[in-house]
Amino acid sequence: MIMFKESAIHKFRKLPTPFYYYDVSILEKTLQCVSEEAGKYGYQIHYAVKANANDKILKIIRDYGFGVDCVSGNEIAKVMNIGFDPECTVFAGVGKSDWEINFALDHNIFCFNCESKPELEVINEFAGKKGKIAPIALRINPNINPATHHYITTGIEENKFGISQWELDNILSLLKNLENVKLIGLHFHIGSQIIDLKSFKSLCMSVNQIQERFIKYQIIVDHINVGGGLGINYEDPDKNTIPDFAEYFGLFNNLLELRPKQKVHFELGRSIIAQCGSLITRVLYIKNGVKTKFAIVDAGMTELLRPALYQAYHRIENLTSYGKSDRYDVVGPICESSDCFGKYIELPETKRNDLLAIRSVGAYGEIMAFRYNLRDLVKSYYSDEL
Ligand SMILES: *Cc1c(COP(=O)(O)O)cnc(C)c1O
Repeated sequence: MIMFKESAIHKFRKLPTPFYYYDVSILEKTLQCVSEEAGKYGYQIHYAVKANANDKILKIIRDYGFGVDCVSGNEIAKVMNIGFDPECTVFAGVGKSDWEINFALDHNIFCFNCESKPELEVINEFAGKKGKIAPIALRINPNINPATHHYITTGIEENKFGISQWELDNILSLLKNLENVKLIGLHFHIGSQIIDLKSFKSLCMSVNQIQERFIKYQIIVDHINVGGGLGINYEDPDKNTIPDFAEYFGLFNNLLELRPKQKVHFELGRSIIAQCGSLITRVLYIKNGVKTKFAIVDAGMTELLRPALYQAYHRIENLTSYGKSDRYDVVGPICESSDCFGKYIELPETKRNDLLAIRSVGAYGEIMAFRYNLRDLVKSYYSDEL
């Protein structure tokens, strides 16, 4: 265990559990690496706020000069408060409501990533009423199925996301008649937790083909936004703490066929923020089941939903016991059978009051906390403040 120093574990013992713990130095090293590798090609990064919208984390990301990718009006309000530049803010989502569109127009964001014909018409109407021209990108569904959990694929035609390619001709003729939107980009996002870079290779090929089609219409957009989705190593978070951003950005640099002055944008969430976070939880009881032992902990699906929602795997470590190992089903206190963090997990012999760390939970962890069973919303602590 590289991540947890004895001194930190000593402090954990005095804190009320469960809580999220963020290692700020891991976040900063990750941001540094993204900056350097993307900087080589002049790529622009928008941090996907939905992965984690903690004030302190957003401020650190802001200080590295990143932009943001928002999926709601409240996310836009939050990042404006934190001090992100509206000029580096993009707004995606299949269901942008009226107030959200108006709010984004009032803040003069960089780009609306649009997902349907009626959405384009509504943005055009609202922008017209304000005497503005809304900058838009078309989110195109490239019909690529990345090897990831089916709940987190977004770029295949059966998903609700994006504009299908058969609809493009239609959309382009519509756009000619919309005077208050300006097409500035093409947007893609094929899914999340993508480990096999072949999927990104297919994405590049698809983007190149779609660009050819646009060029036939004599349309050359200012930017190509390839979204996010780069995966992380959940099995061994200490081995690959920082994803291979050099290889990732290098692939796009090799394969994307760009027109002169065309910029490339990325929207990274998980790959930036997942590895710096852990959920620290206390063992309440060890209970003998018929076939297995249960380690019942004080965190549940209300603090970390991913295992229940997507059958997500998170590495679990016992921070305070070191004896010979045994197997446990690590479960929470919530009244749902899906409230289970892992089955038949190997841990050192575990007892009441031991502290466990559930690893790699910085992305889509705390932000998904909810109050079922009237649980308190989970707290967070940071390595540089303990
Ligand atoms: C969620 C999302 C992202 C970020 O995805 P990660 O897998 O966390 O990198 C990027 N773009 C859009 C449009 C999204 O919805």
